Amino acid sequence: MKIYFLGTGTSQGIPVIGSHHSVCLSSDEKDKRLRVSVWIETEKASIIIDCGPDFRQQMLNSMCQKVDALLFTHEHADHTAGLDDIRPFYFKQGPIPVYAHQRVLKNLEKRFDYIFETENKYPGAPSIIENEVKVDQPFLVNDELIIPIDALHGSLQVFGYKIQDVVYLTDVKTIESSEIEKIKDCKVLIINCLREEPHATHFNLEEALHFISLVRPKTTYLTHISHLFGFHEEIQKKLPVNVFVAYDNLEINI
Ligand SMILES: [Zn+2]
Repeated sequence: MKIYFLGTGTSQGIPVIGSHHSVCLSSDEKDKRLRVSVWIETEKASIIIDCGPDFRQQMLNSMCQKVDALLFTHEHADHTAGLDDIRPFYFKQGPIPVYAHQRVLKNLEKRFDYIFETENKYPGAPSIIENEVKVDQPFLVNDELIIPIDALHGSLQVFGYKIQDVVYLTDVKTIESSEIEKIKDCKVLIINCLREEPHATHFNLEEALHFISLVRPKTTYLTHISHLFGFHEEIQKKLPVNVFVAYDNLEINI
């Protein structure tokens, strides 16, 4: 299985537009972070989780050729705003299967009404196949089993996903212990960690490390990172063994 980090930044990305913050001015490529997204390719399926405003650039960077499923964690713009750019995949493959909570599907229908149009649809608009994700209802993409993990982003419900021994969870602030049970001792955990300072809707470093101690994964990658967290190289020095800061275009084969 291949895990490709398409983007590892928080909602504004790094650099932030117009910012003179030292991290935004860094020349280290690892300090440049597009909006958070991941591509997981198994023997059976090519799966993208979230489709933010940098989706087009991310598909070009990763040279992704095929999308068997697009999974959404939640409806916030940094995770969904790039949906129109699935067009090249739609032209090649036909309607793209999308998986999300019913609330998220409804939200996308409002914001991308032309994609959901059934009558007199503009011929260049992409089409999707809607699939509702429900708590405690694993589903198959091709023959690959996907287990949804339920969590909270402040008061907003979000889904993470477990694919084989890999767990992807982002924009989490709280999570029930019953959900933690489902992912205990996984091989790879990818978890959001915004910065060191507390935040109302995201794990900070202390909360992420506590969560990691409960899950006990073999390896962890931190993602959804703010420029306020500091330089990539400096963050890495603060982390325990087997916990790594993810960076854009990092590819892991397991
Ligand atoms: Zn986000």
